[in-house]
Amino acid sequence: MDSAAAPFSRESLKQARRLVVKVGTRVVTHPDGGLDVVFLDRLARQIARLHERGCQVIVVTSGAVHLGRAVLGPTRGKETLNYRQAAAAIGQPELMRTYAEALRAHGLVSAQVLLTMDDMTDRQRYIHVRNSMELLLRRHVVPVVNENDSVSVEGVTFVENDKLAAIVATKLRADLLIFLSDQPGLCTADPRLDPEARLIACVYPGQDPGAEAEGAGGAESRGGMRAKLAAARTASDFGIPVVMVAGDLDNVLLRVLAGEELGTLFVPGPAREARKVWIATAAEPAGSIMVDSGAASALRRPGGASLLPRGITGTEGGYEAGDIVRVLDPQGQEVARGLVNYPASEVALLVGAHSSEVLDRLGHVGHEEVIHRDNMVVTGE
Ligand code: GLU
Repeated sequence: MDSAAAPFSRESLKQARRLVVKVGTRVVTHPDGGLDVVFLDRLARQIARLHERGCQVIVVTSGAVHLGRAVLGPTRGKETLNYRQAAAAIGQPELMRTYAEALRAHGLVSAQVLLTMDDMTDRQRYIHVRNSMELLLRRHVVPVVNENDSVSVEGVTFVENDKLAAIVATKLRADLLIFLSDQPGLCTADPRLDPEARLIACVYPGQDPGAEAEGAGGAESRGGMRAKLAAARTASDFGIPVVMVAGDLDNVLLRVLAGEELGTLFVPGPAREARKVWIATAAEPAGSIMVDSGAASALRRPGGASLLPRGITGTEGGYEAGDIVRVLDPQGQEVARGLVNYPASEVALLVGAHSSEVLDRLGHVGHEEVIHRDNMVVTGE
């Protein structure tokens, strides 16, 4: 039990029915470049057991770039985007083939799902992705997801699979997200370098283990841990428990699902509705709306207000009505994100307007709110 006061404990994980399992490159490959088929066999066996119990498992795996790199050979200097795209194009079919074989050996059908960030930011596309994944899951297929690195320009440079896994978990309303990693969990320092390193068993909502975990790893692995932390937060903030755990432990998935104290548990915050999940986890907002301090605090108040024209001081970017925009306070800090009711050209006309002036300024009747509260997620809420 993590804490008597906590409403959520390891025991609660026994109830999980839909799982997202993120497999890191170092977990699925050997240092020399090849895939670890023994690991994949053990993973497939556990997934088969989970299926027998009525669980659904979505795998999000890395490894494509690493596999392709072994074929292409080293580059001189920094790897270019094209090099990574080419490496992924070589590695992905190999990665998928090996997953498919491992799963088939345990009687499971797999499906390759390659996603770019656009598939998640565009609501129509995201709904299609979700529906096709739901169909796969209903038919007891194991979706094996990776980023579509070979065509994903922004994605390769900005998105780690940790984030992809967190987004997939929120979009598909998973009950649990498990990061299988080459570390025992979130530690106070890199356990490979520091004998004093301690595993952080539990992270509660609102608690920031960042400073403590900051020391984990050298310059190379720090980014990795930070990315993992941010991804874990994305999921746990939306009500999904996250467990970060060593991928090489025997029966690791089954044991986590049995409530065993392994790795680091991120206790979930209160769940939120799907639309808000989509707004908060969508990629780059299409623009920004600047507001005065009065409007900023009205938005930040618990159960607070919609964004009205009156508090707006400026606008930036060429967004359309229905796009996601950032709301910034006078210091440039993000206050919220939301679906905007007007295009940028009209928001510019509405700066500072009283509600009664909307018709005059635009020449047509519009929404009273520039962003309705229901379509808004306050940052850090
Ligand atoms: N999608 C990349 C791959 O398959 C990995 C990205 C990551 O390491 O997070 O190689």
